[in-house]
Amino acid sequence: MILTGTVVADASTTIEDGGIAVEGDRIAAVGEREAILDAYPDREVHSYDLLAPGFVGSHVHSVQSLGRGIADDTELLDWLFDHVLPMEASLDAEAMYVAARLGYLEMIESGTTTCVDHLSVHHADRAFDAAVEMGVRGRLGKVLMDKRAPDGLREDTDAALAETERLVDRYHGAADGRIRYAVTPRFAVSCTEDCLRGARRIADENEGVRIHTHASENRDEVATVEEDTGYRNVHWLDEVGLTGEDVVLAHCVWTTESEREVLAETGTHVTYCPSSNMKLASGIAPVVDYLDRGINVALGNDGPPCNNTLDPLTEMRQASLLQKVDHHDPEATPARTVFEMATVNGARAAGFDRVGKLREGWRADVVGLTTDETRATPLYDPLSHLVFSAHGDDVEFTMVDGEVLQADGEVLVADADEIRARARAVASGLDGAPDCLC
Ligand SMILES: [Zn+2]
Repeated sequence: MILTGTVVADASTTIEDGGIAVEGDRIAAVGEREAILDAYPDREVHSYDLLAPGFVGSHVHSVQSLGRGIADDTELLDWLFDHVLPMEASLDAEAMYVAARLGYLEMIESGTTTCVDHLSVHHADRAFDAAVEMGVRGRLGKVLMDKRAPDGLREDTDAALAETERLVDRYHGAADGRIRYAVTPRFAVSCTEDCLRGARRIADENEGVRIHTHASENRDEVATVEEDTGYRNVHWLDEVGLTGEDVVLAHCVWTTESEREVLAETGTHVTYCPSSNMKLASGIAPVVDYLDRGINVALGNDGPPCNNTLDPLTEMRQASLLQKVDHHDPEATPARTVFEMATVNGARAAGFDRVGKLREGWRADVVGLTTDETRATPLYDPLSHLVFSAHGDDVEFTMVDGEVLQADGEVLVADADEIRARARAVASGLDGAPDCLC
């Protein structure tokens, strides 16, 4: 297949009249349109106004999709314990499947091709199944909670770790490696020391398995961890083995100088979630400082109950604007910086090689967008447009590993109307959720 259009191959490479040749699951060539068409004759050609690498959502909760809008105007711990966890506890296997499919549908429609997905305590199989069926690239994990958890979500430590090992055996490397496993403690507030150390053991015993958890998102969370353990949150995670190049920590809003040194020294990845941090009034993550220290910063939408969308393009805009205002510096986070967070930095955090740029030999994860709209007129700089003007609704084409998941605005791997209808039906019966207008 040949794709033609203006190609934003990475944050510093734009080809105005460009083309991409896709062979199998790889990009065979990227270059000028005419040269690509000449080199690869008689191929199917699809044209879009703008072509870019598929976006990487490095911290999402697909299975919280049924809770979109259930807990606006609350802070993290009330939001979590009074609203979101009761909702998660009420999801049976069918509801989990419906919720995950709704989340992946939104990702495919709006251009996220890779996710790092924090599932729930129960029925994780059904979310893995949904990811495999719908073709997204993802690093997914069942959530671990063995203390300070509501009824229905608190598990025995050994049972939770054993279930994790079963899921690693079943799904790590599924779909030709498109699906990989992250051991996923909810956060230090809800996990015992044995649980956190067990997470490290499982990652060490299974090649390519990573660790994904929340850290230092909110001041009350940090205080709770300090009361429980005597350590600042990141120091505690470091103490129990949950830092390193195979660890993705979501948020890291409230960190001290010495915690930041630990993040940098250990090569721990940080996922910046600006919309969630603003909506829950958690604070502003010091991502410019993290980048200055060489810490890999990725970008994530977090969950629909705290964002309330999974649109990666809007998230890039928020990511940049929030840092500019925090630093009173318009140059704090230019378009290229947040574009890298949402693409190649995300792929690094998620642990997928040759993902996040459009390059010969790299994975064929590509999105195509329309610019035939007033909001895109005039269009001088495609990178600026993607970060500051474009919306997820502009995405018309989504490809993962050379497989077309969406073309001309139509999702090909699932019945979008049916997914939305089932989601509305299930949402009507959830605990912790208001009556669904549907
Ligand atoms: Zn989260």
